[in-house]
Amino acid sequence: MDRDSLKKIISHSKEYGFIFPSSEIYEGLNAIYDYAHNGTLLKNNIREYWWKSMVQLNDNIVGIDSAIFMHPKTWVASGHVDAFNDPLIDNKDSKKRYRADVLIEEHIEKLNLKIQKEINKAEKRFKEKFNKKQFTQTSPRVREILSSIEDIKSKMVSAFENDNLVLVKNLIDELEIKCPISGTCNWTEVRQFNLMFKTKLGASEDSSMDLYLRPETAQGIFLNYLNVQKTSRMKIPFGIAQTGKAFRNEIVARQFIFRMREFEQMEMQFFIQPGSQGEWFEMWKKKRLDWHLNIGINDSSFRYHDHDKLAHYADAACDIEFLFPFGFKELEGIHSRTDFDLKSHEKLSGKKIQYFDPVLEKNYTPFVVETSIGLDRMFLAILTNSFKIETLDDGSTRNVMSITKQLAPNKLAFLPLLKKDGLPEYTKKLMKEFKHEIKIDYDEKDAIGRRYRRHDAIGTPYCITIDHQTLEDETFTIRDRDSMEQKRIKVDQLKKILEDQLKLKSLLKNLNN
Ligand code: ATP
Repeated sequence: MDRDSLKKIISHSKEYGFIFPSSEIYEGLNAIYDYAHNGTLLKNNIREYWWKSMVQLNDNIVGIDSAIFMHPKTWVASGHVDAFNDPLIDNKDSKKRYRADVLIEEHIEKLNLKIQKEINKAEKRFKEKFNKKQFTQTSPRVREILSSIEDIKSKMVSAFENDNLVLVKNLIDELEIKCPISGTCNWTEVRQFNLMFKTKLGASEDSSMDLYLRPETAQGIFLNYLNVQKTSRMKIPFGIAQTGKAFRNEIVARQFIFRMREFEQMEMQFFIQPGSQGEWFEMWKKKRLDWHLNIGINDSSFRYHDHDKLAHYADAACDIEFLFPFGFKELEGIHSRTDFDLKSHEKLSGKKIQYFDPVLEKNYTPFVVETSIGLDRMFLAILTNSFKIETLDDGSTRNVMSITKQLAPNKLAFLPLLKKDGLPEYTKKLMKEFKHEIKIDYDEKDAIGRRYRRHDAIGTPYCITIDHQTLEDETFTIRDRDSMEQKRIKVDQLKKILEDQLKLKSLLKNLNN
């Protein structure tokens, strides 16, 4: 996977009805996208996999769906009005805008790649005798790079912690970080930029109230904590899950649906006893990685990244990073948010937001461990992992999306071999046995080979072809998307495949809950 493959994924997504650029007839809107038919089906399936893994598999997690608009004080209490800023910097030659922290992190990533190169060289030289741990501890070159990484990290953390943007700029100068477009170090000063979108509630100018479009769904959970806890009679530890739109006026929104200005989050806040956050943090880190691995993506595509620079509310934070076509990047965040949010809302609202612990027989403000994943980023991770252009034995190529079967937009495609001799009628009758259970598709246009290709390209796991023999013995051909193997089966066998491989429950069953 490389940057070129991202271009292919983008054009494939448009051609096969996954994702369209928004407002295209007006030349589009930067970093805003619409989901097309197949994209919507896939997105709904990913959301359902997440939702059920949270609220159906865990007795102690309940769901909500809170409004996008919230009282403006919410964002004062949460710290977003003061601190939800990104440090931006412009290159004077290319006129391109960057996030200063991202420029520094990318520089660190380049140094990490240098270390990896040294390791690869030594591995080749020493063969079986190679000991990676010993090598990284003793190689002068590796130690030198590691120590400069440490130095950069500590300077960066201290500059951001002290809100000292001059030091951030100095660090960029000192490291001689160049603009990837112009290749120069001709930078402006670093400035803070608040990412929240403002709007107004109410018709008249004088009585209207400034509102924000929520930049995260989590605050809707905190504001409902008391109501949910009382009505669901949950005892700590318990969680509240929700999925929904979030909005951020990102400085640099690019890389397709990876960084958008309107996107969807799937968040779960887990309320726990103060002091137990370390344990729950580790538990959720593991549980969330298992959720990703369960859909069959290779574990070498994921890595944990523990944060050096913590958000204002967190005492620990870790990203699950995925290997996108543009490198390892955050897919999901697991954050230990302490009691910061509930305490701030308690202070600003004047309402007591606490929990009476019947075991400890006392009141306290619960601590929170949160898991937060972008649905669109998960969508892109799945596209990245499943999109392939294969060269076949006859030299031709096919585009195939090997999407996890249970998440595929359509699970089965029913194809009458010909548009006559009663084959379409038989096919439609057969489809009635399946259409109430899962999403299936009917396709009678073009030669059978072209129909197979079309369904490979949108990730349909199995094509079912009805031909003249079907009318005689009730068998039909099932073709496997990935192996392209074909065999004849009967309806009962197809029903078994449906249960064992295509329904979401077969995926949920493998999660270790
Ligand atoms: P990043 O460092 O990439 O800006 P973040 O740390 O600000 O992300 P969080 O605030 O932790 O992100 O949000 C939780 C999740 O929401 C992220 O892991 C990501 O999957 C998703 N997300 C955040 N910002 C965007 C965006 N602009 N577009 C799409 N998804 C996003």
